[in-house]
Amino acid sequence: MAAADWQLVCGLEVHAHLKTRTKMFCRCELEYGAAENTHTCPVCLAHPGALPVANSRAIEMTILLGLALDCEIAERAVFARKNYFYPDLPKGYQISQYEAPLCGPGRFVLPTPAGDREIGIVRAHLEEDAAKTVHAGGATGRSVGADYSLVDFNRGGTPLLEIVSAPDLRSADEAMSYLRLLRQTIRELGVSDADMEKGTLRADVNVSVRRAGEDGFRPRWEIKNMNSFRFVGRAIEAAFRQQVAAHEAGEEVVQSTYDYDPDTDRLTVHRSKEEADDYRYFPEPDLVPVEPPAELVDRLRGEVPESPVERIRRLSDELGVASATELVATGHERKAEALAAEGLEWKAAAAIAMNRDDFRPENAAALARIVQANVTREALDEAFAAAAEGPIDAEQYLSRTALGDTDALAPVIDAVIAAHPDQVETYRGGKEGVLGFFVGQVMRETGGKADPKVVSELLREKLKG
Ligand SMILES: [Zn+2]
Repeated sequence: MAAADWQLVCGLEVHAHLKTRTKMFCRCELEYGAAENTHTCPVCLAHPGALPVANSRAIEMTILLGLALDCEIAERAVFARKNYFYPDLPKGYQISQYEAPLCGPGRFVLPTPAGDREIGIVRAHLEEDAAKTVHAGGATGRSVGADYSLVDFNRGGTPLLEIVSAPDLRSADEAMSYLRLLRQTIRELGVSDADMEKGTLRADVNVSVRRAGEDGFRPRWEIKNMNSFRFVGRAIEAAFRQQVAAHEAGEEVVQSTYDYDPDTDRLTVHRSKEEADDYRYFPEPDLVPVEPPAELVDRLRGEVPESPVERIRRLSDELGVASATELVATGHERKAEALAAEGLEWKAAAAIAMNRDDFRPENAAALARIVQANVTREALDEAFAAAAEGPIDAEQYLSRTALGDTDALAPVIDAVIAAHPDQVETYRGGKEGVLGFFVGQVMRETGGKADPKVVSELLREKLKG
């Protein structure tokens, strides 16, 4: 059987640090990048007798996210102890939610070129993050080979939102699209920076495979703590390949935690998966259950903004689903809309929004004029740089148009071609990359004022010989 006869079954567990001022169960301030162990207290250091108090803002943020994902909001949610030992977990357990999470089943609509796909949300719950172990010495910066390890307790007790999807994702692209749009949703709700590079967004990826038409699920692999979008996609594809190969060879596929190595593009087994029983969950005796009042839920429902998915629907008429998704998932569509509203063609507006820094909205009209006037690259760079700082005057840039006039450019191009016979021969011998050299020469001769697109076209024509 070929890989095409197999179907990918993938679900994501996404963790996001909530953007509260203080930690989940104590009043220590949250500050990214602060000096080690400067934001700690008896509660988050787990001194005996210290009692946790739940952060009400974190609870509100979790409900807000739940409402945005169409989740059922629990009338009574319960914090639970998840017991395990780790050096960066001083209590010997993590406070999480188990049987009664704040947000129950919901759904996430994923626009795709083939139509909308509905991804089930199993739950969204609130927990605290562990502290951070820093491995020092040795060459790798990892635990293996390190000389010693230190613990930074600043992160310990950070409110952490966990969003668990159903195993409804059917390709690496779909999983990445879900992750990017979920990240954008979280950001626009203002509940988290959701930045993978800073570790405020992490994803655990569950992957199994089954034969087309097969019901039920085969054993899955869990890939923990992925912190790069690219690697999420590559790890899913690698897991798919390795599992299909194992099933086809008649080997047993065991449910386990795996590590993805980007260098070899392969997954290796990390440790056998703990079952829920191993954690000995039980209700946290030091915290009362959370019973969100109906008025609070109603108020938060009113605060849910238009979702990224709705905006993709709006924009896909103009741009197609793929470009609209790209624009929205990267948070650039408001810039594109502002430029399009000023008469710029949609595709050009989208390209500029994706590639240019933010500009102040009052400059949209001036920028649209400047772009349409075909000014030099230099003038465009200056205009956008200035447009981020304060109001700009279009007139200042409009006169600096790129030289696109064929009659004016022809003699310059002829001179450049005549001066470089060797390169002409190379080009005519099939090395079309040399064109860039000629364009560069013409740009130099015209003091950067020539329109590179027109120059390329003219050069191609003249170099045909
Ligand atoms: Zn504390």
